[in-house]
Amino acid sequence: MSGSQLPSVWINELTWQEVDAYLRRESRIVLLPAGTTEQHGPAGPCGLDTYVAIALAEDVARRSGVLVAPPLWYGDSSHHGAFPGTITLRTETLMLVVRDVCRSLARHGFDRIVIINGHKGANLPALTSAVRNLHEEELPQVLFAVADPLHLARSVAARIKDAREHHSGELELSEIYHKFPHLIRTDRLTHEAIDFDGIFGGFVGNDLFGPGPDGVEVVWSSREQRAFTADGSFTPSAGVSADKGKRYHDHMVDRLCQFVDWLRSYRGPIGRVPQPAEAPR
Ligand SMILES: [Zn+2]
Repeated sequence: MSGSQLPSVWINELTWQEVDAYLRRESRIVLLPAGTTEQHGPAGPCGLDTYVAIALAEDVARRSGVLVAPPLWYGDSSHHGAFPGTITLRTETLMLVVRDVCRSLARHGFDRIVIINGHKGANLPALTSAVRNLHEEELPQVLFAVADPLHLARSVAARIKDAREHHSGELELSEIYHKFPHLIRTDRLTHEAIDFDGIFGGFVGNDLFGPGPDGVEVVWSSREQRAFTADGSFTPSAGVSADKGKRYHDHMVDRLCQFVDWLRSYRGPIGRVPQPAEAPR
């Protein structure tokens, strides 16, 4: 049974028998949205990164007929922790949670697990390391992948946006304004930007989708962040629009649907994929 023939693409809205039917008929692909609950400046809700992951996963699942696991609402956000509303996991906790969720999915036969991250660079090290270890040590039969706007939108982001894009920037707010317009405080959008070069000596780029310096990853604490950004926003958001959000979002959904198509035909580097009868129950 394809996910599109079931009452929902969300595992949390299905019965176990409906999930079982999907596992017997489909190619056992599942999407896992991963986000954060962290401050997103004066105009964005604290759950913005999770809404990004939810929107991408749900639209891909509906079009491709695959299932989605319940989203991870918490991520690696300690550097935003000086702003109220931020709720963070420690990096090692996030890795443990991801491993347990993936173990549970794999136990019942999901053998292609695609994490869809909405938090860009700050979640990626934990997510990628967690599943790389799991694949190496426990679940060699499962193909793991980690998708993120940083990579999915690489070719189009610069053409869509009008400003530099960093935390709480024009593109991520536009995507949520397109998908969940009531969540963006359009009267609180800002032209303000933090002075990256003044703060980081020219070693940290100020545009996640633009040209940057030959750089160094400089680590900062929540207290330092609160000192260098008064309202939590890093780059201007005044140019937010539903049209920009739709173009950015649709491109990423298209690309992820292509990835799901490829996953369906994937036979693995050793030439075969376990058949349903062999899947661990
Ligand atoms: Zn964000």
